Amino acid sequence: MTQLQSLRGMVDLLPEQTRCWQAVESVARDHFRRAGLQEIRTPLLEVTELFARGIGEATDVVGKEMYTFVDRGDRSCTLRPEGTASVVRAALQHGLLSQGPQRLWYGGPMFRYERPQAGRQRQFYQIGVEYLGVGSPRSDAEVIALAWALLVDLGVQGLVLEINSLGTLQDRQKYREELVAWLEARSDQLDDDSRKRLYTNPLRILDSKNPAISELLQDAPTLFEALSVESKARFEEVQVDLEALQIPFQLNPRLVRGLDYYGHTAFEITSDQLGAQATVCGGGRYDGLVEQLGGAPTPAFGWAFGMERLMLLLEAAASINPNGSAARLTASTRPDLYVVNRGEQAERVALVIAHQLRAAGLVVELDSSGAAFNKQFKRAGRSRATWALVIGDDEAERGEARLKYLQEATTQANPIPIDQLHRLDDVTGLVRLVRE
Ligand code: ATP
Ligand code: MG
Repeated sequence: MTQLQSLRGMVDLLPEQTRCWQAVESVARDHFRRAGLQEIRTPLLEVTELFARGIGEATDVVGKEMYTFVDRGDRSCTLRPEGTASVVRAALQHGLLSQGPQRLWYGGPMFRYERPQAGRQRQFYQIGVEYLGVGSPRSDAEVIALAWALLVDLGVQGLVLEINSLGTLQDRQKYREELVAWLEARSDQLDDDSRKRLYTNPLRILDSKNPAISELLQDAPTLFEALSVESKARFEEVQVDLEALQIPFQLNPRLVRGLDYYGHTAFEITSDQLGAQATVCGGGRYDGLVEQLGGAPTPAFGWAFGMERLMLLLEAAASINPNGSAARLTASTRPDLYVVNRGEQAERVALVIAHQLRAAGLVVELDSSGAAFNKQFKRAGRSRATWALVIGDDEAERGEARLKYLQEATTQANPIPIDQLHRLDDVTGLVRLVRE
């Protein structure tokens, strides 16, 4: 029989990876907690119209990347390709926006039918933040700072924050006309993709990955030049705030985001260590989306980062600096205690002790092989446990176990009374027992 495989672009996370993922998630949660954010969890499946309306028909995501199907009730459903539209839908559906500004975060799998490669999958995992009902330029800087501080804290190297302003809808309409006219005059130099986008989503041409197009665009008019005086002043304020926060940034007048709902501040955090998929985090202001999804006009700002790309960066950072914070994230936890046990009576006693010590808060690995003592000791060493608790039938008979310190080459194993063990609440208690 042929061995079944996961779908292309859908990846398993094995224990060695989930360990690191959990560490990153807990650092992120802690940052969010300190910033007063609350978690929101929305379904993976939504009505297709949510994304068509929210993200925009002319975007790559909606145009060619969605997992869409008709369910048994004849509804068109889509596996969420991103989190923002769902978060806004949920906030509207449950009236959260009438309760004042919402500072939310989410984490979970997203689905896009793309060509899989390093840092690009069909199911990938995003962690994101959405501030709803907060409109000041200052909040743009605050939310960008949250992403920056988190990535820096994780120990990721070589980060560059690029920012741009996409202005207002009017700014973009004006610029769109200028850009289309400029590109029409050079249509012979455009590739098929760009020619297709010329009238559907011309701003996206700025984001083209084709080097010939990027080269051509060097001389194109920029969106920044087309911004109104007010939009420029607003953007200036965001920059002053970022400077006050001592967050280094670069202006990138060609930065446009892939989703239609962005306006004013847009940003990406990239790293030179990611190759072609250089963007680890992206986001910006999307003041029009809540209204577009049927709510009252509500300012909003958010970002998301991709866990897979972040993991690639952490691996790189850990290999460069084995003692840095990225390396600590990938380290496995050591058991406090490895229980070596052999013999009919001893094994039952060991089972009960392990159970009690775990309940007391210790990390306990119970050898369940029934193998010879020397084999079990080898495994205890490999587990990197601090202590071994040794129980054979003789010890069990006497109501004793022996405790051996594994971090030094000592042969000494000290007897301790088993009936005292359940009173322990940490490892130091064990040591005290030996001394008594
Ligand atoms: P890209 O230009 O790389 O396609 P994007 O603009 O489509 O990115 P966003 O929609 O802004 O990406 O998503 C935010 C982040 O989610 C990205 O910066 C990236 O880290 C991650 N991401 C997006 N698509 C994928 C994917 N297919 N596989 C893995 N991570 C992804
Ligand atoms: Mg994309």
